[in-house]
Amino acid sequence: MKATVFHKHGSPEVLSYEDYDDPQVTSNQILIQVKAVALNHLDLFVRSGIPGLNLEMPHILGSDISGVVVELGKNVQNSFQIGQQVIIDPGISCGICEFCIRGEQSLCPSYGILGEHYRGGYAELLAIDAKNVVPIPGDAPLDIVNAAAVPLTLMTAWRMLISKAQIQPGDDLLIIGIGGGVALAGLQIAKTAGARVIVTSSSNSKLERAKELGADIVINHNEMPDYHKEIGRLTKNRGVDVVLDSVGQATWTRSLRSLRKGGRLVTCGATSGPNAETNINSVFWRQLEILGSTMGSRDELRTALKLVWNGKIHPVVDRVLPLSKAREAHELLERGEQFGKLVLTP
Ligand SMILES: [Zn+2]
Repeated sequence: MKATVFHKHGSPEVLSYEDYDDPQVTSNQILIQVKAVALNHLDLFVRSGIPGLNLEMPHILGSDISGVVVELGKNVQNSFQIGQQVIIDPGISCGICEFCIRGEQSLCPSYGILGEHYRGGYAELLAIDAKNVVPIPGDAPLDIVNAAAVPLTLMTAWRMLISKAQIQPGDDLLIIGIGGGVALAGLQIAKTAGARVIVTSSSNSKLERAKELGADIVINHNEMPDYHKEIGRLTKNRGVDVVLDSVGQATWTRSLRSLRKGGRLVTCGATSGPNAETNINSVFWRQLEILGSTMGSRDELRTALKLVWNGKIHPVVDRVLPLSKAREAHELLERGEQFGKLVLTP
Protein backbone atom coordinates (compact mmCIF):
# COMPACT_ATOMS: atom_id res chain seq x y z
CA MET A 1 0.00 0.00 0.00
CA LYS A 2 0.91 3.66 -0.16
CA ALA A 3 1.33 5.54 3.12
CA THR A 4 2.68 8.85 4.33
CA VAL A 5 5.25 8.02 7.00
CA PHE A 6 8.14 9.63 8.83
CA HIS A 7 11.46 8.00 9.67
CA LYS A 8 12.59 10.66 12.13
CA HIS A 9 10.97 13.53 14.03
CA GLY A 10 11.13 17.04 12.64
CA SER A 11 9.46 19.67 10.48
CA PRO A 12 6.82 18.82 7.81
CA GLU A 13 9.66 17.86 5.41
CA VAL A 14 10.14 14.56 7.28
CA LEU A 15 6.76 13.35 5.93
CA SER A 16 7.31 10.96 3.04
CA TYR A 17 4.75 9.34 0.72
CA GLU A 18 6.02 5.86 -0.01
CA ASP A 19 5.33 2.13 -0.28
CA TYR A 20 4.64 0.32 2.97
CA ASP A 21 3.75 -3.31 3.75
CA ASP A 22 0.03 -4.08 3.75
CA PRO A 23 -1.24 -4.72 7.29
CA GLN A 24 -2.47 -8.23 8.14
CA VAL A 25 -5.60 -8.68 10.26
CA THR A 26 -5.54 -10.79 13.42
CA SER A 27 -8.61 -12.78 14.47
CA ASN A 28 -10.30 -9.87 16.32
CA GLN A 29 -9.43 -7.22 13.76
CA ILE A 30 -10.99 -5.67 10.69
CA LEU A 31 -9.12 -4.44 7.62
CA ILE A 32 -10.29 -1.00 6.55
CA GLN A 33 -9.69 0.61 3.19
CA VAL A 34 -9.08 4.18 4.33
CA LYS A 35 -11.23 6.70 2.44
CA ALA A 36 -10.22 9.78 4.41
CA VAL A 37 -8.11 10.81 7.39
CA ALA A 38 -8.47 14.15 9.18
CA LEU A 39 -5.61 16.06 10.78
CA ASN A 40 -5.43 17.03 14.45
CA HIS A 41 -2.92 19.29 16.22
CA LEU A 42 -1.79 16.03 17.83
CA ASP A 43 -0.30 15.04 14.44
CA LEU A 44 2.00 18.06 14.55
CA PHE A 45 3.14 17.30 18.12
CA VAL A 46 3.81 13.62 17.31
CA ARG A 47 5.67 14.49 14.10
CA SER A 48 7.84 17.00 15.98
CA GLY A 49 8.43 14.57 18.85
CA ILE A 50 6.82 14.40 22.29
CA PRO A 51 9.21 13.90 25.24
CA GLY A 52 8.71 10.37 26.61
CA LEU A 53 6.95 9.10 23.50
CA ASN A 54 9.34 6.60 21.91
CA LEU A 55 8.00 5.44 18.58
CA GLU A 56 9.10 2.54 16.44
CA MET A 57 10.09 4.06 13.08
CA PRO A 58 8.81 4.58 10.53
CA HIS A 59 5.67 5.96 12.13
CA ILE A 60 2.29 6.55 10.49
CA LEU A 61 0.16 9.41 11.84
CA GLY A 62 -3.62 9.71 11.62
CA SER A 63 -6.25 9.40 14.38
CA ASP A 64 -9.47 10.38 12.58
CA ILE A 65 -10.31 7.80 9.96
CA SER A 66 -13.26 6.85 7.77
CA GLY A 67 -13.29 3.95 5.37
CA VAL A 68 -14.84 0.76 4.08
CA VAL A 69 -14.58 -2.76 5.53
CA VAL A 70 -12.56 -5.00 3.17
CA GLU A 71 -11.65 -8.02 5.34
CA LEU A 72 -12.87 -9.52 8.62
CA GLY A 73 -10.80 -11.47 11.18
CA LYS A 74 -12.19 -14.93 11.96
CA ASN A 75 -13.75 -13.95 15.33
CA VAL A 76 -15.62 -10.95 13.95
CA GLN A 77 -17.09 -12.39 10.74
CA ASN A 78 -20.64 -11.83 11.98
CA SER A 79 -20.15 -8.34 13.42
CA PHE A 80 -19.65 -6.35 10.21
CA GLN A 81 -20.14 -6.70 6.48
CA ILE A 82 -17.65 -6.32 3.67
CA GLY A 83 -18.27 -2.98 1.98
CA GLN A 84 -19.78 -1.37 5.10
CA GLN A 85 -18.84 2.28 5.67
CA VAL A 86 -17.29 2.95 9.07
CA ILE A 87 -15.42 5.44 11.20
CA ILE A 88 -12.76 4.54 13.74
CA ASP A 89 -12.75 5.21 17.49
CA PRO A 90 -9.11 6.30 17.94
CA GLY A 91 -8.90 5.34 21.64
CA ILE A 92 -6.99 2.14 22.43
CA SER A 93 -7.28 0.73 25.95
CA CYS A 94 -6.58 -2.56 27.74
CA GLY A 95 -10.23 -3.58 28.29
CA ILE A 96 -9.54 -5.25 31.66
CA CYS A 97 -8.44 -2.57 34.18
CA GLU A 98 -10.84 -1.01 36.72
CA PHE A 99 -11.40 2.04 34.49
CA CYS A 100 -12.07 0.04 31.32
CA ILE A 101 -14.51 -2.19 33.24
CA ARG A 102 -16.28 0.99 34.37
CA GLY A 103 -16.47 2.18 30.75
CA GLU A 104 -13.96 4.99 31.39
CA GLN A 105 -11.50 3.96 28.68
CA SER A 106 -9.68 7.29 28.50
CA LEU A 107 -8.61 6.81 32.18
CA CYS A 108 -7.02 3.43 31.36
CA PRO A 109 -3.36 3.42 32.55
CA SER A 110 -2.32 2.01 29.17
CA TYR A 111 -4.59 4.30 27.14
CA GLY A 112 -3.17 5.17 23.76
CA ILE A 113 -4.32 7.02 20.68
CA LEU A 114 -4.26 5.66 17.15
CA GLY A 115 -1.74 7.68 15.15
CA GLU A 116 0.13 8.70 18.31
CA HIS A 117 1.06 5.55 20.25
CA TYR A 118 0.09 3.21 17.38
CA ARG A 119 0.44 3.49 13.61
CA GLY A 120 -2.59 5.28 12.24
CA GLY A 121 -4.48 6.16 9.10
CA TYR A 122 -2.20 8.17 6.78
CA ALA A 123 -2.33 5.04 4.59
CA GLU A 124 -4.47 3.15 2.14
CA LEU A 125 -5.18 0.32 4.61
CA LEU A 126 -5.58 -0.01 8.37
CA ALA A 127 -5.99 -3.16 10.49
CA ILE A 128 -7.83 -2.31 13.71
CA ASP A 129 -9.63 -4.16 16.53
CA ALA A 130 -13.34 -4.58 15.76
CA LYS A 131 -14.27 -2.83 19.02
CA ASN A 132 -12.83 0.41 17.59
CA VAL A 133 -14.94 0.21 14.43
CA VAL A 134 -18.21 2.18 14.35
CA PRO A 135 -20.65 1.69 11.44
CA ILE A 136 -21.95 4.77 9.64
CA PRO A 137 -25.75 4.41 9.32
CA GLY A 138 -26.93 4.19 5.72
CA ASP A 139 -29.12 7.29 6.11
CA ALA A 140 -26.47 9.47 7.79
CA PRO A 141 -26.51 12.95 6.22
CA LEU A 142 -22.77 13.18 5.53
CA ASP A 143 -20.39 11.65 3.02
CA ILE A 144 -17.51 9.38 3.89
CA VAL A 145 -14.86 12.10 3.48
CA ASN A 146 -16.59 14.47 5.93
CA ALA A 147 -17.13 11.55 8.33
CA ALA A 148 -13.36 11.39 8.93
CA ALA A 149 -13.54 14.86 10.48
CA VAL A 150 -15.79 13.67 13.29
CA PRO A 151 -14.51 11.20 15.92
CA LEU A 152 -11.60 12.64 17.94
CA THR A 153 -12.81 16.19 18.38
CA LEU A 154 -16.47 15.20 18.85
CA MET A 155 -15.71 12.70 21.63
CA THR A 156 -13.32 15.19 23.25
CA ALA A 157 -15.79 18.10 23.21
CA TRP A 158 -18.65 15.87 24.37
CA ARG A 159 -16.74 14.61 27.40
CA MET A 160 -15.63 18.16 28.25
CA LEU A 161 -19.01 19.86 28.07
CA ILE A 162 -21.58 17.14 28.78
CA SER A 163 -19.79 14.65 31.07
CA LYS A 164 -17.35 16.98 32.87
CA ALA A 165 -18.78 20.53 32.87
CA GLN A 166 -22.39 19.23 32.76
CA ILE A 167 -23.56 22.19 30.73
CA GLN A 168 -27.24 23.03 31.19
CA PRO A 169 -29.88 24.82 29.09
CA GLY A 170 -29.48 28.55 29.65
CA ASP A 171 -25.84 28.32 30.76
CA ASP A 172 -23.37 30.83 29.38
CA LEU A 173 -20.37 29.13 27.77
CA LEU A 174 -17.18 30.88 26.67
CA ILE A 175 -15.09 29.06 24.03
CA ILE A 176 -11.55 30.36 23.62
CA GLY A 177 -10.22 30.31 20.06
CA ILE A 178 -12.90 29.23 17.63
CA GLY A 179 -11.71 27.51 14.45
CA GLY A 180 -10.14 24.31 15.79
CA GLY A 181 -11.98 21.01 15.76
CA VAL A 182 -12.71 20.73 19.49
CA ALA A 183 -13.95 24.33 19.67
CA LEU A 184 -16.26 23.87 16.67
CA ALA A 185 -17.66 20.57 17.96
CA GLY A 186 -18.08 22.24 21.38
CA LEU A 187 -19.99 25.14 19.86
CA GLN A 188 -22.44 22.81 18.14
CA ILE A 189 -22.85 20.52 21.18
CA ALA A 190 -23.50 23.52 23.44
CA LYS A 191 -26.12 24.91 21.08
CA THR A 192 -27.99 21.58 21.01
CA ALA A 193 -27.78 21.60 24.84
CA GLY A 194 -29.44 25.04 24.95
CA ALA A 195 -26.51 27.14 26.12
CA ARG A 196 -25.68 30.72 25.12
CA VAL A 197 -22.27 30.54 23.47
CA ILE A 198 -19.65 33.29 23.39
CA VAL A 199 -16.58 32.62 21.23
CA THR A 200 -13.23 34.39 20.80
CA SER A 201 -10.80 34.50 17.90
CA SER A 202 -8.19 36.86 16.46
CA SER A 203 -9.82 36.54 13.04
CA ASN A 204 -13.02 38.37 12.11
CA SER A 205 -13.70 35.94 9.27
CA LYS A 206 -13.56 33.00 11.72
CA LEU A 207 -15.93 34.88 14.03
CA GLU A 208 -18.37 35.41 11.14
CA ARG A 209 -18.26 31.69 10.34
CA ALA A 210 -18.84 30.88 14.01
CA LYS A 211 -21.98 33.04 13.98
CA GLU A 212 -23.29 31.02 11.03
CA LEU A 213 -22.78 27.89 13.15
CA GLY A 214 -24.82 29.35 16.00
CA ALA A 215 -22.42 31.41 18.15
CA ASP A 216 -24.50 34.02 20.03
CA ILE A 217 -21.74 36.52 20.80
CA VAL A 218 -18.29 36.87 19.22
CA ILE A 219 -15.22 38.66 20.60
CA ASN A 220 -12.06 39.50 18.65
CA HIS A 221 -9.40 38.96 21.31
CA ASN A 222 -6.81 40.95 19.32
CA GLU A 223 -9.04 44.01 19.31
CA MET A 224 -10.12 43.31 22.89
CA PRO A 225 -7.22 41.62 24.73
CA ASP A 226 -8.92 42.13 28.13
CA TYR A 227 -11.88 40.08 26.96
CA HIS A 228 -12.69 38.94 30.51
CA LYS A 229 -13.83 42.54 31.11
CA GLU A 230 -16.16 42.30 28.13
CA ILE A 231 -17.48 39.01 29.59
CA GLY A 232 -18.16 40.94 32.81
CA ARG A 233 -20.08 43.60 30.89
CA LEU A 234 -22.07 41.04 28.85
CA THR A 235 -23.06 39.06 31.96
CA LYS A 236 -23.70 42.07 34.25
CA ASN A 237 -20.55 41.23 36.25
CA ARG A 238 -21.72 37.69 36.91
CA GLY A 239 -19.33 35.81 34.62
CA VAL A 240 -19.98 32.73 32.52
CA ASP A 241 -20.95 29.31 33.86
CA VAL A 242 -18.39 27.39 31.83
CA VAL A 243 -15.18 28.18 29.92
CA LEU A 244 -13.76 25.74 27.36
CA ASP A 245 -10.06 26.55 27.08
CA SER A 246 -7.60 24.37 25.16
CA VAL A 247 -5.17 27.26 24.52
CA GLY A 248 -3.61 27.08 28.01
CA GLN A 249 -0.83 29.39 29.15
CA ALA A 250 -1.73 32.41 26.99
CA THR A 251 -5.39 32.58 28.08
CA TRP A 252 -5.61 30.70 31.41
CA THR A 253 -5.75 33.70 33.77
CA ARG A 254 -8.35 35.50 31.66
CA SER A 255 -10.38 32.29 31.38
CA LEU A 256 -10.49 31.92 35.18
CA ARG A 257 -11.41 35.62 35.54
CA SER A 258 -14.29 35.14 33.07
CA LEU A 259 -16.00 32.55 35.30
CA ARG A 260 -18.92 33.26 37.61
CA LYS A 261 -18.65 32.19 41.24
CA GLY A 262 -18.79 28.39 41.26
CA GLY A 263 -18.08 28.30 37.51
CA ARG A 264 -16.25 25.51 35.71
CA LEU A 265 -13.17 25.74 33.50
CA VAL A 266 -12.64 22.64 31.37
CA THR A 267 -9.38 22.00 29.52
CA CYS A 268 -8.21 19.35 27.06
CA GLY A 269 -4.98 20.92 25.91
CA ALA A 270 -2.46 23.74 26.11
CA THR A 271 -1.45 24.67 22.58
CA SER A 272 0.22 27.91 23.78
CA GLY A 273 2.15 26.21 26.60
CA PRO A 274 1.48 24.25 29.81
CA ASN A 275 2.65 26.58 32.58
CA ALA A 276 0.14 29.21 33.64
CA GLU A 277 -0.34 31.18 36.84
CA THR A 278 -3.38 30.38 38.97
CA ASN A 279 -4.57 32.65 41.77
CA ILE A 280 -5.47 30.02 44.39
CA ASN A 281 -7.29 32.61 46.53
CA SER A 282 -9.64 33.16 43.63
CA VAL A 283 -10.14 29.40 43.12
CA PHE A 284 -11.28 28.74 46.70
CA TRP A 285 -13.04 32.01 47.47
CA ARG A 286 -14.93 32.02 44.21
CA GLN A 287 -15.31 28.20 44.41
CA LEU A 288 -14.10 27.61 40.87
CA GLU A 289 -13.84 24.13 39.43
CA ILE A 290 -10.94 23.26 37.11
CA LEU A 291 -11.72 20.13 35.11
CA GLY A 292 -9.19 18.19 33.06
CA SER A 293 -10.45 16.05 30.21
CA THR A 294 -8.84 13.78 27.63
CA MET A 295 -10.51 12.15 24.62
CA GLY A 296 -13.65 10.21 25.66
CA SER A 297 -15.04 6.75 26.29
CA ARG A 298 -16.48 4.41 23.67
CA ASP A 299 -19.92 5.20 25.08
CA GLU A 300 -19.38 8.98 24.91
CA LEU A 301 -18.35 8.73 21.26
CA ARG A 302 -21.36 6.62 20.35
CA THR A 303 -23.76 8.88 22.28
CA ALA A 304 -22.36 12.03 20.67
CA LEU A 305 -22.48 10.45 17.22
CA LYS A 306 -26.29 10.26 17.40
CA LEU A 307 -26.29 14.03 16.89
CA VAL A 308 -24.16 13.63 13.77
CA TRP A 309 -26.27 10.80 12.39
CA ASN A 310 -29.47 12.82 12.84
CA GLY A 311 -27.99 15.98 11.32
CA LYS A 312 -27.90 18.16 14.46
CA ILE A 313 -24.08 18.41 14.35
CA HIS A 314 -22.14 18.86 11.12
CA PRO A 315 -18.41 18.31 10.77
CA VAL A 316 -16.74 21.46 9.50
CA VAL A 317 -14.15 20.72 6.81
CA ASP A 318 -11.81 23.47 5.65
CA ARG A 319 -10.37 21.57 2.70
CA VAL A 320 -9.54 18.13 1.32
CA LEU A 321 -6.08 17.25 -0.05
CA PRO A 322 -4.60 14.01 -1.38
CA LEU A 323 -2.61 11.89 1.11
CA SER A 324 0.53 12.55 -0.93
CA LYS A 325 0.17 16.26 0.05
CA ALA A 326 0.28 15.58 3.82
CA ARG A 327 3.31 17.87 4.11
CA GLU A 328 1.33 20.80 2.68
CA ALA A 329 -1.58 20.00 5.03
CA HIS A 330 0.78 20.08 8.04
CA GLU A 331 2.13 23.46 6.95
CA LEU A 332 -1.43 24.77 6.64
CA LEU A 333 -2.35 23.51 10.12
CA GLU A 334 0.82 25.02 11.60
CA ARG A 335 -0.16 28.41 10.21
CA GLY A 336 -3.55 28.04 11.91
CA GLU A 337 -5.52 29.85 9.24
CA GLN A 338 -7.98 27.01 8.67
CA PHE A 339 -11.57 26.98 9.89
CA GLY A 340 -12.46 23.37 10.61
CA LYS A 341 -10.71 20.22 9.59
CA LEU A 342 -8.04 19.49 7.03
CA VAL A 343 -8.72 16.10 5.49
CA LEU A 344 -6.46 13.82 3.42
CA THR A 345 -7.72 11.20 0.96
CA PRO A 346 -5.55 8.21 -0.07
ZN1 LIG B 1 -7.79 -0.35 30.84
